[in-house]
Order: sequence, then C-alpha cells, then structure tokens
Amino acid sequence: MKSLPFFCRGEVIRGFGRGSKELRIPTANFPDSVVDNLPADINTGIYYGWASLGNGDVYKMVMSIGWNPYYKNTKKSMEAHVIHTFKEDFYGEILSVVLVGYIRPERSYDSLEALITAINNDIEEAKFKLELPEHLKLRDDNFFTSAPSSASALAPTTATTSQTIMNGH
Ligand code: ADP
Ligand code: MG
Repeated sequence: MKSLPFFCRGEVIRGFGRGSKELRIPTANFPDSVVDNLPADINTGIYYGWASLGNGDVYKMVMSIGWNPYYKNTKKSMEAHVIHTFKEDFYGEILSVVLVGYIRPERSYDSLEALITAINNDIEEAKFKLELPEHLKLRDDNFFTSAPSSASALAPTTATTSQTIMNGH
C-alpha cells in the first residue's frame, strides 16, 4: 500500500458499544471526517502503528478498518486499540495516529475465544514489528509533538491541510 505510513488525527467519538471493553480490548473510534480522508488504497483489515492522545506519550497501537454497520456497510470505520492501560476513558480527546503496516484482512470468527486470540496475536505482531528501526523512527515524528491538545484546537480545515502535508512527502 503506497499510502503507508499514513498520518491522521481526530476526536475520539462513541462507537457502537459492541462490547470491546468487556473483552478488555477497547477501541477508540474516529469520526467520519477522518474516515472520509482515508486514501482509496487503504483496504479494510487490521493495521499496526503508533498513537498518542493530545500531545502526550506515543504508544503502540493496532487499528481495525472495517465496514461500518451504521451505514449498512457502505462506509468504512476506524477503531484504534492503544497498547497501554489508561486510568480513564478519553472520549472527546484528540487521538493522533500513524498507520505503519498491514497485518491481515478482516474476517469473522466461530467463537469469542477465537476472536480474542486473533486480536491478541495482532497485538503481539504490532509490538514486534514496531521495534524495527524504520518503524521506531515514526514514533518520534514531529506529527506527534505538534498535536493539538484539545478538540477545539482542531479546526476541520486545518486538520485536512496538515494531513495533506504530512502524507504528501
Ligand atoms: P465504543 O463502542 O464507544 O468505542 P469501546 O468499548 O470500544 O466503546 O471502548 C472505547 C473507549 O475506551 C475509547 O473511546 C476510550 O475512551 C476508552 N479506552 C480506554 N483505554 C483504551 C485503550 N487502551 N485503547 C482504546 N480506547 C481505550
Ligand atoms: Mg470502540
């Protein structure tokens, strides 16, 4: 995928409450404004990369890009599981993400255990791959240090412009 690495950021919104928190794998959902800016060659599936909240620490993450049931599977959704234990939820905060690599396509599982095993394998693969020097250096990209610390600082036009610049080189 020639669009990788792909940088984006947006406010964390409420998802469908599909119980990911009960599986102990919460996923922070991006709004349509972010999903609509995904390049066409970013297929649905599971990705690994880096993520930070506001302009805080940068953590490893896995992201699911899938078909959004709310729009009868005609639009994509983006949900990030940050590989870090947070003390509190962070709805409304700005999540900055760089998609670094692709792990696998989406698929359905016969059981909850099989799904959880698959996700835990994704997390292990993400942890391992992100240690490669060429991926580690993206953690230190100034995309993360220049992140706005609040949602009000993220005007839609500014976000679009900076995304274009960040991904244009
Ligand atoms: P929703 O359906 O609203 O997305 P989830 O069960 O997927 O609910 O939980 C996601 C929420 O959990 C996030 O929006 C965030 O506020 C919180 N959260 C806490 N820890 C994490 C984490 N490590 N990664 C992602 N989200 C987390
Ligand atoms: Mg979620």
